[in-house]
Amino acid sequence: MIRSYSEIVERVERKEAVVMTAEDVSRLLQAGEASRLSEVDVVTTATRAVMSGTYAVLSFPLAGPGSFLRARRAWINGIEVQVGPCPNENLGILDLMVLGTAHSRSRPNYGGGHLFRDLVEGKKALVEVETDCGRCIQAEVGLEEMPFARLFGSRHAFKNYSAFVNAGSEPVATIFHRLAFAPQCSEATFSGCGLISPLKNDPLLESIGIGSRILLNGAEGYVIGTGTRSSRDRPNLSGFADMQKMDPELMGGFVTSAGPECICSWAMAIPIVSQKILAEIARPDEDIPLPVSDVSSRAAIGVADYGDVWTEVDLDVIFEPESCISCSSCRAEESCPMQAISHQSGRVERDEWLCFHCGLCVSLCPGGAFRSRLGAVELNTESGDYKRIPVTLRQSDRLRAVKLAGDLKKRILDGSFKIAEPVGRIS
Ligand code: SF4
Ligand code: SF4
Repeated sequence: MIRSYSEIVERVERKEAVVMTAEDVSRLLQAGEASRLSEVDVVTTATRAVMSGTYAVLSFPLAGPGSFLRARRAWINGIEVQVGPCPNENLGILDLMVLGTAHSRSRPNYGGGHLFRDLVEGKKALVEVETDCGRCIQAEVGLEEMPFARLFGSRHAFKNYSAFVNAGSEPVATIFHRLAFAPQCSEATFSGCGLISPLKNDPLLESIGIGSRILLNGAEGYVIGTGTRSSRDRPNLSGFADMQKMDPELMGGFVTSAGPECICSWAMAIPIVSQKILAEIARPDEDIPLPVSDVSSRAAIGVADYGDVWTEVDLDVIFEPESCISCSSCRAEESCPMQAISHQSGRVERDEWLCFHCGLCVSLCPGGAFRSRLGAVELNTESGDYKRIPVTLRQSDRLRAVKLAGDLKKRILDGSFKIAEPVGRIS
């Protein structure tokens, strides 16, 4: 039975609502209980992925009033940041905009995404400012010294991302791979969490609207509207939340062969207010197209589906250090996009908290210390050919997205996350 938004909100408040994660729904369907779908009021969804369209606005006092007129240029941990938009003339206060994809001049493989996570973890950052009279000021600043620290997504949570292959004859450095992308369509990388992604479940934005509450990196925030390059076929969202309340495990930097990128997570509750949403929540991974493009030209070369990469695969990468054969140089450690692998006292270790379960180490480790079934893109090309291309790197972390959708469900049921009707429709 389809209910109105306000009826669903009332049912949640009275603790009568049926709230399920998108995974619960999938399991219900696999158990042949499709008829029970009509009982569901709210589906919780989530995604965690490399999301380039991320920036932060930070504002904090750097020096006493009158200590400089205006900042001309500024860096945080070596990352050049945009000064402004407010000049804060003579106040000693900085307003700065930091791009998630900006790269540090002083720290290799360190960018905006790493900085955001470091700040949320409570680490201090080195701020360097060049003033308009040529003075240099330095200070160590942490999130607790920032009365305003807000993260924005200008293009997040696409309904469908893509898979990439390199159809050329030479390796390519790209943000879509940690290493040079091997040629001749010999490997594939992809992004997107498939059936648990928010916009997959509400592609016409009937339930999600301006002002919808979200969890952005675990902090409560709001949808602003669509993001850049959003279209009816491939919608995405823009939104924001305060960094002070974020969970570092859900964010961070991700190193690629074209420099560091930025990871973000979204969780959203989708009240089922239309037949279309009811139909979409039942759609399995196999029915969600995964466009496959050439990484250099970005030209579409065929279509696969999310079933290829998320069914009969392992969401996690299993780590068995006893299988390590102590290579003279550890390719897994050198290449891990999260810098999660290290050697301590001659023994290989993995930082479970950092690991993204991208799977890259699986094909790089000759000892088999990392194991996971990553699947393969079953590519049907426009010329009618068929190719099976193994996945070597995932740029989405469905394992944590599943957990996040579960956390949101719990918060809704215990009343700590309030569902409220959006203030406006997104046209
Ligand atoms: S690549 Fe694998 S086997 Fe070789 S040192 Fe690293 S963890 Fe050990
Ligand atoms: S799966 Fe392997 S390569 Fe990927 S983040 Fe984890 S340890 Fe690093």
